[in-house]
Amino acid sequence: MVPQAFLNALQNLYPPERISTRQAILEQHARDQSAHPPHLPDLVVWPLTTEEVSQTLQLAQQHRVPVTPWGAGTSIEGNPIPIHGGLVMDFSRMDRILAIHEEDFQVTVQPGVLYKDMNKVLARYGLFFAPDPGANASIGGMLANNAAGIRTVKYGATRDNVLALEVVLADGRVIHTGSRSVKQSSGYDLTHLFVGSEGTLGVITQATLKLAPIPAHVSAAVARFPTVADAAAAVFEIIGAGLEPTALELLDATAMRVLNTDPDIPHFPEQPTLFMEFASSHQAALEDTLDQVRELCAEHYAQGFDTGVGRQERARIWRARHHLFEAHVRYFAGQQFLVGDAAVPISRYPELIARTAALMEKMGLVGSLLGHAGDGNIHTIVFYPPDDPQARDRALAFNDAFVELALELEGTSTGEHGVGLGKRKFMAREHGLALDVMRQLKHTLDPYHILNPGKVLPE
Ligand SMILES: Cc1cc2nc3c(=O)[nH]c(=O)nc-3n(C[C@H](O)[C@H](O)[C@H](O)COP(=O)(O)OP(=O)(O)OC[C@H]3O[C@@H](n4cnc5c(N)ncnc54)[C@H](O)[C@@H]3O)c2cc1C
Repeated sequence: MVPQAFLNALQNLYPPERISTRQAILEQHARDQSAHPPHLPDLVVWPLTTEEVSQTLQLAQQHRVPVTPWGAGTSIEGNPIPIHGGLVMDFSRMDRILAIHEEDFQVTVQPGVLYKDMNKVLARYGLFFAPDPGANASIGGMLANNAAGIRTVKYGATRDNVLALEVVLADGRVIHTGSRSVKQSSGYDLTHLFVGSEGTLGVITQATLKLAPIPAHVSAAVARFPTVADAAAAVFEIIGAGLEPTALELLDATAMRVLNTDPDIPHFPEQPTLFMEFASSHQAALEDTLDQVRELCAEHYAQGFDTGVGRQERARIWRARHHLFEAHVRYFAGQQFLVGDAAVPISRYPELIARTAALMEKMGLVGSLLGHAGDGNIHTIVFYPPDDPQARDRALAFNDAFVELALELEGTSTGEHGVGLGKRKFMAREHGLALDVMRQLKHTLDPYHILNPGKVLPE
């Protein structure tokens, strides 16, 4: 339980409709979209201003109450689960677009705005924010997890598309990092320190983001292969040839079977498949690129190469791809699941894919391989019966082996989902002595460890 004096102070700060200890509200803020066990916070507040966030953190630090920022709760590594209880600070009502700097291709927003809503507004200006995780995440959550998506292969992850932040520190101080200049060389890069820190170093209350113009000409291609290893080898060739896809996704045969349950898309053969998209300001250049891609795929035994995908069909395929995680949960209804996420340098991608597929088969696991292949990123989703502890242990052992393999191939334990709870055990192996520096940074910025405690750094 939080101290009564803290509760009283917060009740003076927030009107009754923006502070809650109701069980249903606590339950909504106890779990994300992962299989990590839920944990109830003691109370939830919905700030509207930076000043409220600052005062709340001052009180929390004074009373040593844990504070977990909350965006849309769509994480899949336990990142926003308040495992030590305390206060959840829900940013869903701090969701305004503050300024659109159309001529500079920039937008300044509050953290609670959902990226899909933001992109609908930006489309009127011919602009968009490129990182696009499948779920309708908040900008605060995307910044905190350094989220990425199908467009990252061309435009980078969230970290590559942020220029400036307003951050409230654990003691309530409000700082501004970076600037609206796209070139910045002044001082330590605090902006990118907070991006990916999962709410453990500070609370983001404002962000200025880089935007991209919506491309004039876009073309899609779908290629299917006899094995995932062939598909992954083609990915390496396409990226290596400098063809710069705007999306390059790999789905194995199981993922294709699940994708086919979407009634709005054409039925695809259930084979390892690459979904690709290329953009250009000239139609002729686009056609030339597609010819090169076709040749590279053929060299890796592609059994079909379809470029006649229209704009509406493309949108439906990407929508289905974005909802593939939920589609898996529906397809394997009643089963427990474990989502894996790792990334490697693109030259090691074919090996990662071939060995991960072989491992899944050897361990007798049911599941899929799918991912943002152009970034060297792959996700595994394995399913097991909830009443079978041995199957669960096998799934956990598979996930560990998958991450170890990515690290062996000079990659990372998480390409985009963040460390949260599930990846903490790999932090020492991945970062060595640098982990000590991370701990020192945490202690400097949050000496009483009130900010999202128990995440990122192993105990
Ligand atoms: C179906 C599905 C598909 C997905 N696909 C992808 C994908 O393709 N790529 C990808 O990267 N992710 C993906 N995700 C994971 C998830 O959507 C992202 O991690 C996303 O960034 C989480 O944003 P959120 O708003 O839901 O944040 P939350 O889950 O609410 O929080 C995420 C983290 O951010 C912290 N936080 C939230 N707001 C703030 C703030 N204002 N200041 C500081 N810290 C804050 C929280 O404490 C937590 O640690 C997917 C999830 C689902 C369910």
